[in-house]
Amino acid sequence: MRLRAAALCPRQSGNAEMTRILHRSIGGRLPQAAAGQGIFITDNDGRSYIDGSGGAAVSCLGHGHPEVMAAMRAQMDRIAYAHTSFFTTDVAEELAERLVALAPEGLDYVYLVSGGSEAVEAAMKMARQYFVEIGQPQRRHFIARRQSYHGNTLGALAAGGNAWRRAQFQPILPETHHVSPCYAYRDQRDGETPEAYAARLADELEAKILELGADEVIAFIAEPVVGATLGAVGPVADYFTRIRSICDKYGVLLILDEVMCGMGRTGTMFACEQEGISPDLVTIAKGLGGGYQPIGAVLLSDKVYRSFAEGSGLFQHGHTYICHPMAAAAANKVVELISQPEMLANVRMMGERLQAGLDARLGQHAHVGDIRGRGLFRGIEIVADKETKTPFDPALKMHARIKKEAMARGLLCYPMGGTIDGRIGDHVLLAPPYIIRPEEIDQIVERIGGAIDAAV
Ligand code: PLP
Repeated sequence: MRLRAAALCPRQSGNAEMTRILHRSIGGRLPQAAAGQGIFITDNDGRSYIDGSGGAAVSCLGHGHPEVMAAMRAQMDRIAYAHTSFFTTDVAEELAERLVALAPEGLDYVYLVSGGSEAVEAAMKMARQYFVEIGQPQRRHFIARRQSYHGNTLGALAAGGNAWRRAQFQPILPETHHVSPCYAYRDQRDGETPEAYAARLADELEAKILELGADEVIAFIAEPVVGATLGAVGPVADYFTRIRSICDKYGVLLILDEVMCGMGRTGTMFACEQEGISPDLVTIAKGLGGGYQPIGAVLLSDKVYRSFAEGSGLFQHGHTYICHPMAAAAANKVVELISQPEMLANVRMMGERLQAGLDARLGQHAHVGDIRGRGLFRGIEIVADKETKTPFDPALKMHARIKKEAMARGLLCYPMGGTIDGRIGDHVLLAPPYIIRPEEIDQIVERIGGAIDAAV
């Protein structure tokens, strides 16, 4: 048999002609990541990059953290995998205990999966099964928000309201319904207070529930701080308290998707803590494993759990790798470390430094429309016209240009294009590891500033 290893694994440089991987983008040329240490990734050509976006808001502890690696090694020496139809494991149980202890009030149980989309799918199915268990099988609608992202599997993609991601799959997506996002930069009217804007959005949700049938809606799903599709856009004051009460009024479950904004990213373990509300279900992933293992989770309320326990006695769902011991071991250590008060305090302090630095460096830039976010989760929206907030033509791919210029300056930032519905400009996300130091924040500001100057 012909050996193909060399062709399969080009050693020196990523080359589209040589790769057998179907990469996200075909025909481009990717450097190969060779090593990671702290906030830095080094490629095979010896170039070093500040991981300014933690990948996609994943690497919350940076790379090569000795304690996480030791926890993984210890677990590997014990057992790497045991199927959940036969066994539970101490690491999975401990992780669940830890998450519940840190979670907003009322979220008492945990379902462990392998990533964000899987968590969202599981949460949607839990919500549907809840109503079947309690004798309301007529409930069948999900409501989400436009310009949102909840994952790429069909159910999660259907919930997401990003027109570009949905477009070609639209005919095969389960039906979902969408209302406006909370996006003050573009949608809060002149002279409208944040409270009035929040009330207007809550009214829109209520109208949608009534239009679909008050007893036919399963859940409303939203990201507390919108990541990939809007670029770190948080809610205005009062928004989530109003949303929570509308959901309660009609018995609709509230699912919060904290896959990107959760696990300390915004300065509190859960982003919704800052809104003063508890959801019925919350999804987490990314920072949960910190990039050391693929893992996600759904935290569910006692009410939902009991409906299964006292009803059919099972949650009718499951993947082969749920509760994976290696993933649980890594996440258990990651969560122990990121939940330390000093770590979260650093996220808040460095986040403020990042915002202040970006404001000073880019606030007056002719093509920077908005700089926003919470904690170490910041977004920069690029516009063609600052006054009118008109986005650049998406064909110009401003976000990709910025990413390229940033990489040339040794910085990784997470780019997203303007939407095809013209509602939002290109933006880049910054989400560095929580261990970052002040002088490294300043380097990010300098490099992203240079990249935007050069690209736009
Ligand atoms: N939900 C949100 C809010 C996300 O940002 C993402 C990924 O970016 C997902 C779900 C999907 O997660 P994954 O890519 O791990 O499937």
